[in-house]
Amino acid sequence: MSAHTELVSRLRAAWLSGKTRPMEYRVAQLEALGRFLDEKKQDILDATALDMGKPPFEVELSEISICRSELNHTLNNLGTWMKDKHVEKNWATQLDSAFIHKDPYGVVLIIGPWNYPINLLLVPLIGAIAAGNCVVMKPSEISRNVERLVAETLPRYLDKDCFAVVTAGTEETTRLLENKFDYIFFTGSPSVGRIVMTAAAKHLTPVTLELGGKNPCYVSDTCNVQNVARRVAWGRFFNAGQTCVAPDYVLCSLEMQEKLLVALREAITEFYGPNPQESPDFARIVGDKHFQRVQALLRSGRVAIGGQTDAQTHYIAPTVLVDVQQDDPVMQEEIFGPILPILTVTSLDDAIAFINARERPLAIYVFSSCKKVVNQVLEKTSSGGFCANDTIMHMTLTSLPFGGIGQSGLGHYHGHYSFDTFSHPRAALLRGAGREALNTPRYPPYAPRRLPL
Ligand code: NAD
Repeated sequence: MSAHTELVSRLRAAWLSGKTRPMEYRVAQLEALGRFLDEKKQDILDATALDMGKPPFEVELSEISICRSELNHTLNNLGTWMKDKHVEKNWATQLDSAFIHKDPYGVVLIIGPWNYPINLLLVPLIGAIAAGNCVVMKPSEISRNVERLVAETLPRYLDKDCFAVVTAGTEETTRLLENKFDYIFFTGSPSVGRIVMTAAAKHLTPVTLELGGKNPCYVSDTCNVQNVARRVAWGRFFNAGQTCVAPDYVLCSLEMQEKLLVALREAITEFYGPNPQESPDFARIVGDKHFQRVQALLRSGRVAIGGQTDAQTHYIAPTVLVDVQQDDPVMQEEIFGPILPILTVTSLDDAIAFINARERPLAIYVFSSCKKVVNQVLEKTSSGGFCANDTIMHMTLTSLPFGGIGQSGLGHYHGHYSFDTFSHPRAALLRGAGREALNTPRYPPYAPRRLPL
């Protein structure tokens, strides 16, 4: 028996013992996770800085405080979420109790990516613990300092019988996936998502796939250009563009492009100073491979702003590209770096047709002071999420489901959507053992009986 198989069997035995089911147990594990966040905050800041030069404020905002608010929201609502939900009954079950019981799945596998390595491992973990599961976590090997931190310290806070961290690259993850899990929650690229789903299919294991894609950002002619530029620049250059919900490209008219370029240059200087390479608030690309890939995309169109790179420190300046063609490399894949191409369109309908001719993205952004324009984009396109007059902010709400559609993912989570994702809605009918006369109408011989409808 391999080490992975042994681990999964051990966790399944712990799950079958019923240990994770009581609310007190779940609360204790969630509180322990809170202590991990508090006590290891500096280590998280250090590890993310080493992995990709993440600015401390960005780590606090996007890794620590998001986990904190998810944790608090879960602790505050867990009692309500766990309650059985009584449902309507039919004539035959009037005297019985019919309800949905939120059952944990069992042993869950969570596979995380490197770009928000704490958030994207712990937020799903919070949902899985809240729902009463045992969990194997597989952090990304690319953000290796965070991987080491999580593997060495997180298990000290959680019950070792029920929660484990496995460190693994591609080969070992492939072997890990041969095991039968009861649920798999994967965050990463669409290509690996397919591999995970194929492996899950062998065991008929349900999956959530949180994937990526190219998020369009339509800027109409009626808007405050300075506000648009700051909000788009923030969303695009936060974490050096390595954000699944970052605006991937802008669609606007030629006239708007001219105004936007001026405003974007101002916003970039305001945020990162005259030389972003010296700014403590601008992150780096995670490694050599990713740096080479993103750098190659700079050859699409013409650099209007930025474009500087430094291979040694994996620096790519906040960059805006213009004169980009639809078949340029930068438009063929998710950019996942600090590059913002602007493509011009002739009308709102043109922009909508452009968006609909491509895979359905994780997010669509629209900037307009005209409600009709916003509503048209909302009604005539499809995406995992949608945000008008800002970027990224929709995903900060624990009250909204977060997830993709089509190529950008399958399923959703955050807040009570996480709890539901990691719970099986078990149909329960509790009937009395007596009153047999009430059942006689359904037993044979039937003729000449009619249904009492
Ligand atoms: P990735 O798909 O390369 O890796 C994700 C995880 O899968 C890692 O833990 C990795 O070790 C593992 N993995 C890689 N190859 C594997 C294989 N062949 N078999 C099994 N496991 C394998 O993704 P990434 O580079 O870490 O992250 C970037 C991608 O993730 C982007 O596409 C981005 O949009 C997406 N993403 C999506 C979200 C979301 O919430 N929807 C969030 C962050 C990132």
